[in-house]
Amino acid sequence: MDSIDQQKEKKEIVKRYQALLRSWSENKGIKKNNLVRKAFIMASQAHNTMRRRTGEPYIYHPLEVARIVAGEIGLGETAIISALLHDVVEDNPDYTIEIIRQNFGDKVAYIVDGLTKIKDGYERLESNSQVESIKKMLLTLSDDVRVILIKLADRLHNMRTLDSMPPSKQQNIAAETLYLYSPLAHRLGLYVIKSELEDLALKYNEPEIYRTISSKLKESEMERYSFVSRFILPIKQAISAQGITCEIDTRDKSVYSIYKKMQTKEIPFEEVYDLFAVRIIIDLPLDQEEMNCWRVYTLITKLYNPKQSRLRDWISTPKANGYESLHTTVMSPMGQWVEIQIRTRRMHEIAERGYAAHWKYKQQVDNDKTHEGGLDDWLGEVREILKSKDSNTLNFLDNIKLTLFSDEVFVWTPKGHLKSLPVGSSALDFAYLVHTELGTHCIGVKLNHNLVPLNQKLRSGDQVEIIASKKSFPKEEWLEYAITPRARISIKESLKEQRKVQTAEGRIKLEELFGDFQLKFSKSNINKFSEHLKFRSTSDLFYRVSLDEINAEHVSEFSEMGTIENLLPKTHPENLHQLDSQINSNQNKPKSSITYNLDDLSFSVATCCHPLPGDDIMAFSPEGMHNMVHRTNCNDAIGLMTRFSKKVIHAHWENKPMNTFLGGIKISGFDRKSMISDIIRVVSDEMRFNIRSFHIDTTGELFEAYISLFVHNTLDIKNTVERLKQIEGVSSAARMLQFTKT
Ligand code: MN
Repeated sequence: MDSIDQQKEKKEIVKRYQALLRSWSENKGIKKNNLVRKAFIMASQAHNTMRRRTGEPYIYHPLEVARIVAGEIGLGETAIISALLHDVVEDNPDYTIEIIRQNFGDKVAYIVDGLTKIKDGYERLESNSQVESIKKMLLTLSDDVRVILIKLADRLHNMRTLDSMPPSKQQNIAAETLYLYSPLAHRLGLYVIKSELEDLALKYNEPEIYRTISSKLKESEMERYSFVSRFILPIKQAISAQGITCEIDTRDKSVYSIYKKMQTKEIPFEEVYDLFAVRIIIDLPLDQEEMNCWRVYTLITKLYNPKQSRLRDWISTPKANGYESLHTTVMSPMGQWVEIQIRTRRMHEIAERGYAAHWKYKQQVDNDKTHEGGLDDWLGEVREILKSKDSNTLNFLDNIKLTLFSDEVFVWTPKGHLKSLPVGSSALDFAYLVHTELGTHCIGVKLNHNLVPLNQKLRSGDQVEIIASKKSFPKEEWLEYAITPRARISIKESLKEQRKVQTAEGRIKLEELFGDFQLKFSKSNINKFSEHLKFRSTSDLFYRVSLDEINAEHVSEFSEMGTIENLLPKTHPENLHQLDSQINSNQNKPKSSITYNLDDLSFSVATCCHPLPGDDIMAFSPEGMHNMVHRTNCNDAIGLMTRFSKKVIHAHWENKPMNTFLGGIKISGFDRKSMISDIIRVVSDEMRFNIRSFHIDTTGELFEAYISLFVHNTLDIKNTVERLKQIEGVSSAARMLQFTKT
């Protein structure tokens, strides 16, 4: 490029920078600013040699994004500086976030960092990283909404210059715009930007349709213009006769919204009656707004007949994104329905500019709660979705999209507070919206004072009262009742928690069942059993056991299978025979058992399984040492019997009720205040057993306790277990069959 061209280009850059300043000063009344200038210079230097696909200097892009941010969204200095710098860190390794921080402070550095981290489809199109970027973007949204507003401006400029992209990329970017950015713009109340994004996306996705509709709009333009001027004249006169100043603005509907209407109503272009809307914007101080909007409404409906079903009052209840307006549809003398929107200047600015304007006015109206709109609620909801561990990316997008697209229903709390929910929400969704606890313990709903099921769909104007009980918890089918992410995430988490407890219970139950069939409760046996039943995991198995879907019958069937490791000799006829014959030869007696006499000092109780009177036992007598008594299904005993079968003696208890033995009980459930003292009270005060040790572990709301106590026999343990199960919060209690050696 020769120097003349370079000169020209430099001039053009400066011209565009000045245009940016102009668009800003229109809004803020500030002429020159050193920091904005500094940002402009830094961006120019950083992108110095870079070009856009169009061949233009790259700096045109950040300049244009900054201009949109200032002029079309109405943001201030920090956002303008950030917009100018938004691609600097990514495109030029010489510039870091640190450098930006040193020059422009923390806020700008934070926003630029957020913008740098968002890789959108413009740069990259694999779906997964895409979701991650969106997630990141939404994460920053909750901290500083400017990140997303600048991102929208960035996307808008890229859409405006999409011609320079290869067609395959155009379609992808257009689709992504429709999928994510236009709903975001809508949700933030940026109607003008949202419409433009949609039209541009349609232009690249459905070029033929776009061309047809826009040329038909153009053809009928003159006709529409003369119609409108005749139609609004009497309105104008009536309003000014009342001494109210107003501006009447008619604007064609967007190509995209006409296309949508043709699609949903299955009608041709010619039958779309509301190709345009008439906006009446009145200038009034805040405290006179509402009354005067209705006054104008009355004036209009005296001139033209309204269609009653089309009255929309977004003034007493603004939309979640802050939109306020009064909508009505009236019949023109020419026999055509016309939509009229009545609003004040303030409402108009919010409608066009959304969040930024909403913010600006917020301070003025802060004592008036209804004006806060649902935006903060929405940000709260997004934050909640992001916080949840459910990182399944597709789910995530659906959740976000649901909150973006949804139209709302408005319902009342018993105390008269208004709450908004997406259309299709159930009473259960409402319960979760009010409070997670209320949702979790919800047992019934009164809708307009009548009891209804939890899955009752809500309609605007309903009054909803939730009945809750601390003892009730979410059920599997609730996932079919609730549609809002807040409720669904919470239900899933509760179900997961419940499942954890049930799994632990099932494990204990299965251990007992295995014991009943003399099966070793070993990892390998559990795995085999689980595989035999075709479960994906052993925790699945435990869970099904807790539901009694897997019971003694299954275990019995399993115990018959030949491949199970460490089966006890007792259930293996061959082993049993061998054992008996050895005992016989050892003792030269026909009886295959001896009597274990507690006074006989040469016997003691094994500490691995703590046998109790009532248990099947065996004695093991190593040479020169006294006999150890084990339960016959003790893991150690099984090993001993297979390895040292010669030294094994079958034994049984002598009836001596006065002696006590050490037994163990495992207890689990929900932890609560004084759980420990309740357990101890039951065991020592009620059952009157001596406790030797007590150990408790808690994870989250769950606890697991081990108690060792002196009892007379297995019946004592059984009774104690039954009593412990009745303690509130205890979900399972069972005798411990195996002890780790200490
Ligand atoms: Mn960019």
